[in-house]
Amino acid sequence: MAKLKFQTPTGMHDILPEDQAYLRHILKVAESISTFYGFQRVDTPILEEAELFEKGTGVSTDIVEKQMYTLKTRGGDILALRPEFTPGMVRSFLQHGMHNLPQPVKLYTSGPLFRYERPQEGRYRQLHQFDLEVFGDQSAAIDAQLIQIFVAILKELKLPGVVVKVNSIGDSQCRPYYKKALISYLRNKQYAVCADCRRRLKTNPLRVLDCKEEKCQQVRSQAPQMIDYLCQECKDHFKSLLEFFDEADLPYHLDPYLVRGLDYYTKTVFEVFANLTPENAEGVGLALGGGGRYDGLVKLYGDRETPAVGFGMGIDRVLSAVKRQGVIRPSSPSPKVFLAQLGEAAKKKSMKLFEDLRKANIPVSESLGRDSLRAQLSRADKLGVPYTLIMGQREVLDNSVVIRTMGSGAQKTVKLQDTVEEVKKLLKGE
Ligand code: AMP
Repeated sequence: MAKLKFQTPTGMHDILPEDQAYLRHILKVAESISTFYGFQRVDTPILEEAELFEKGTGVSTDIVEKQMYTLKTRGGDILALRPEFTPGMVRSFLQHGMHNLPQPVKLYTSGPLFRYERPQEGRYRQLHQFDLEVFGDQSAAIDAQLIQIFVAILKELKLPGVVVKVNSIGDSQCRPYYKKALISYLRNKQYAVCADCRRRLKTNPLRVLDCKEEKCQQVRSQAPQMIDYLCQECKDHFKSLLEFFDEADLPYHLDPYLVRGLDYYTKTVFEVFANLTPENAEGVGLALGGGGRYDGLVKLYGDRETPAVGFGMGIDRVLSAVKRQGVIRPSSPSPKVFLAQLGEAAKKKSMKLFEDLRKANIPVSESLGRDSLRAQLSRADKLGVPYTLIMGQREVLDNSVVIRTMGSGAQKTVKLQDTVEEVKKLLKGE
């Protein structure tokens, strides 16, 4: 095929009709479970001030440093296509005075995010997430509830082997001690890690633990673990979280090197996978989502101490996993009736009948582009409808319609104005 003049930009893709049914189904499941748990939807703009992410997500993160789509408006504002949801959700929470509402405030959203990444399987430049955020509650019970919701969504989507990898990365009290220990461990291993990590050693040493390069993973395997450096408060919080997991039978795996790529996390961080078992969770498959607690971010934006926790589920990856699993095959309602017509006048009249059937909520299909009755009946056969309505020249003159039972080939003529009622009766008797 000759190369097309225009294609989707690199790393971006169309969501075609065959995937839309999956997408709607995933969102329906995620929304119904979240609203059951008391979450309310907020939609934030796709563009935000770039500074919101620089300040919140952090200038030394890959997302802000390398992946943000930034632009200058005609008016001179510097905006960015949102690379993640949390900063915009926090801004919205503060801007609309939601800190004055009874806490916790539970919000959810979904939609496209943009990251200038190296495109590969499961990694796109326009990705989609379903996102939950809870503001105003510091207890580990809320972290556990969020994770429980995430697991429930994936289970409802019939994904097997759902496992939560979890860790605590402490807070501003204890993390500096860990950072120091980590830097001192990594100092004489500078040349054993990749060039990116050599740089990270100076800017964001925890990110070395996150690097997927084989040699960096080897260095990591002997590194000190944050869990040994947690202060009493963080230790109690983490212990309480794991107790909730045990109580709720949530399949988890403690991953002492899980850090996640964002600056604002405190205490709990987690990622969720499918096709694993808690005992065999070392697999490096693609995470279906992740999140964590960010008790300092609201204060950073708004001068108000508000603990918070959230997660983002990667819809593109969940969609591929659900499709691959092949257990769920969502489809649109199949037509019950086919409307065939012969001649221009019948075509015109059948348009009104089609609309009457729609108003009566009867799924109907047609083939207005086809003129021969044979071709239309063969289409009706393929669709597997039990009845076909035929409007030919005679029916146009008589104001009538022929109802054909597809199984037996039996036909009867009814008045045009009675057609919808007749069809309803027939379908009821099915
Ligand atoms: P993050 O916002 O980086 O914590 O990512 C949360 C989830 O979003 C990941 O676990 C993935 O499922 C999904 N995700 C992140 N980045 C991408 C991407 N570039 N393409 C597709 N999915 C992504």
